[in-house]
Amino acid sequence: MRPIDFRSDTVTKPTPAMRRAMAEAEVGDDVYGEDPTVNRLEERVAERLGLEAALFVPSGTQANQIAMGLHCRPGDEVITELGSHIVQYEGGALSALWGIQPQGLPGAHGLLTPEQVAAAVRSENIHAPRSKLLSLENTHNRGGGTVWPLERFRAVVEVARKAGLAVHLDGARLFNAQVATGTPASSWAKLTDTTSVCFSKGLGAPVGSALAGSKALIQEARRLRKRLGGGMRQAGLLAAGALHALEHHVERLAEDHAHARRLAAGLSELPGVKVEAARVETNILLVEFARPSGEMASRLNALGVLVNAFGPYTIRLVCHMDVSAADVEESLARIRRAVES
Ligand SMILES: *Cc1c(COP(=O)(O)O)cnc(C)c1O
Repeated sequence: MRPIDFRSDTVTKPTPAMRRAMAEAEVGDDVYGEDPTVNRLEERVAERLGLEAALFVPSGTQANQIAMGLHCRPGDEVITELGSHIVQYEGGALSALWGIQPQGLPGAHGLLTPEQVAAAVRSENIHAPRSKLLSLENTHNRGGGTVWPLERFRAVVEVARKAGLAVHLDGARLFNAQVATGTPASSWAKLTDTTSVCFSKGLGAPVGSALAGSKALIQEARRLRKRLGGGMRQAGLLAAGALHALEHHVERLAEDHAHARRLAAGLSELPGVKVEAARVETNILLVEFARPSGEMASRLNALGVLVNAFGPYTIRLVCHMDVSAADVEESLARIRRAVES
């Protein structure tokens, strides 16, 4: 039985066309700024995000952490949502690397309100950390792939600006938000100081992310990347995969979103299964089963549906390039068996 892998959109394998683009990439030493493919990727990313410059980095975690280091000094505070990737999934890097203290606010499916952010900003007071940065996530992973409505995003950013905070956007899945809404990724990114994007999530490249911002910030980001050991030499081999992904795999994200909606509709017909179909905005699906999630995940894995437990009863399924429409139907049949047995 062929396993169908919904654990993450990071599990995709490069397509034959992507592998060819990588194999044939023109390369140079990128630490000297001499890799033409990396340079081209960085230009394209900056254009797409409506920001001046961009930097190619090995991972989304590194892109986010470089941004943290750019905007904050030790003892400073980043205001963010409680479930955000920078707090939950980056190995404690905020404190370990930079001495930054997070203030995590409880969001509604990952989204904050302007009032919440306004109330969170500290006034000048020797007892308090300095609020320096607002960091948002679009789409929001733990929220279930939630898209930030542009007007709400703008309102929250405005509150931060008025208080003198910098703004970072973790856009690991920003192109999912673009495809789901028809709003260009740049509409969100242009409002920020720095935005990160991942090529190795839904876009299907094997490796790589980028951080975009002003020329001055990205120049300093180059130093921080070096400091973190992220300077790569003939990185054009990897950048070619990312470029291919950007040119060929953005529009097709709509298929993943349709697959997630189809899964939601199919699962909502099963007894004891709760899924809020209206909340499936992109490629991520949060499903509540009657059995504890650890037990349910093992049952599903045994039937060839690979998933991650996400909460006591919640399981996350993520659709991506390597899950076809037929795989979705087959998965529904397998999940039905797991629920009914
Ligand atoms: C995956 C992800 C990242 C980056 O992860 P890496 O594995 O380090 O590339 C950052 N933010 C969010 C929201 C993510 O889902």
